[in-house]
Amino acid sequence: MKITVVGTGYVGLVTGACLAEMGNHVVCLDLDARKIEILNNGGIPIHEPGLLEVVQRNAKGGRLEFTTDVDAAVAHGTVQFIAVGTPPDEDGSADLKYVLAAARAIGERMTDYKVIVDKSTVPVGTADKVHAAVAEALAARGETMEFSVVSNPEFLKEGAAVEDFMRPDRIIVGAEDERAILLMRSIYAPFVRNRDRLLVMDLRSAEFTKYAANAMLATRISFMNELSRLAERVGADIEWVRQGIGSDPRIGTHFLYPGAGYGGSCFPKDVKALVRSGAEVGLNLGVLEAVEAANERQKQVLVEKVVARFGADLSGRRFAMWGLAFKPGTDDMREAPSRVIVADLIARGAEVVAYDPVAMEEAQRVMPGQAGLRYAASAPETLPGADALLIVTEWKEFRSPDFDAIRAQLKQPLVFDGRNLFEPIDMAQLGIEYHAIGRPAPK
Ligand code: NAD
Repeated sequence: MKITVVGTGYVGLVTGACLAEMGNHVVCLDLDARKIEILNNGGIPIHEPGLLEVVQRNAKGGRLEFTTDVDAAVAHGTVQFIAVGTPPDEDGSADLKYVLAAARAIGERMTDYKVIVDKSTVPVGTADKVHAAVAEALAARGETMEFSVVSNPEFLKEGAAVEDFMRPDRIIVGAEDERAILLMRSIYAPFVRNRDRLLVMDLRSAEFTKYAANAMLATRISFMNELSRLAERVGADIEWVRQGIGSDPRIGTHFLYPGAGYGGSCFPKDVKALVRSGAEVGLNLGVLEAVEAANERQKQVLVEKVVARFGADLSGRRFAMWGLAFKPGTDDMREAPSRVIVADLIARGAEVVAYDPVAMEEAQRVMPGQAGLRYAASAPETLPGADALLIVTEWKEFRSPDFDAIRAQLKQPLVFDGRNLFEPIDMAQLGIEYHAIGRPAPK
């Protein structure tokens, strides 16, 4: 099938590459010439495990092309996926300007039937707006033409995006006409061969499902983070509690990890957008407001612990920091807790020496010229002369570090762990003072 993907970010590039992998002829469009140049030179503009190989294989096979040429891209695909960003507007609602611009661009150029598939995360009712934008663009040319609008939200996780796309738990298709449903079924058939996991529903329910999923996941995290604060006060260990509740199948073990707060391009903005959607129809979504407030608080938790140990004035102190990306497996720094932590430590007069296996370039881009922040070439190189180590992202390479080096090279053996990587008892035996999330010091 001929497919166009508009937007070659985390979602668009993975979608385009994986659809090409199944034999489709895919053209990926982006307005960012830098990204298209990187792709046309055989690279990829983001860090995503396994993606480079899929992109290179399919580009070489002639099934995957990259362009900034809107005319050519619209002319190419019968199915046009829109996978552009939907950042939060000032009031928290999803900003649809990129989605609607993409829709208009299609309407201004299409010459035959198209299925326009919204893959971006968009509020309920956006499909109607996309439909109107395309229809208006056609009308402005004095044209009427058949087209369908489909909602097909994406559930991939950064860091495991190719795997998630190739082996989806479910595929949600919101569509209200048979022709589009048949096309969507045939696109996704290769991905659901062992068991049909494609759920066809009405457009609004499909749009809603994506927000509901992210809001639920964010709720679990904030719930655990709040309980971890209580555990600290009452002398319980949140890691035991986590295992104790997670073994109940009604609760399950996933997404129950307390930490230094959630970040990324999705949870923060999607929770905000859902709260905003509620407000627009006169509903106060109090649970989700609390989820967001708890997360903002949680981003401060490591600095609170540092302040409790050293006092509010951190002048002259230096901190080693492991991890900048909002989670392991990605270079994405959007809404990363590390940004709040770095800013807060520096505002209190401290210096930060940070290391991240893949996100340092992106960190430099989003925190340009940040005085007081330096980067090290490896995790051990952050340590010499630092007052303490802060662990902010749970990259695998931080899980079994050289504890002797930590003990020897820090000014004092002191670790603040925002991701609960180690056992307090082991750290005590190693002679390292250890502050984790929701875990008491061993008696
Ligand atoms: P991104 O910012 O990485 O990529 C968006 C791309 O779209 C950019 O490269 C931008 O240049 C391009 N673009 C913008 N307007 C365009 C236009 N008119 N024509 C062509 N290209 C255009 O965003 P992302 O992380 O891939 O997210 C895209 C959407 O998918 C968002 O709605 C997001 O909420 C949703 N989503 C993201 C993830 C994730 O893990 N990143 C997961 C599921 C869903």
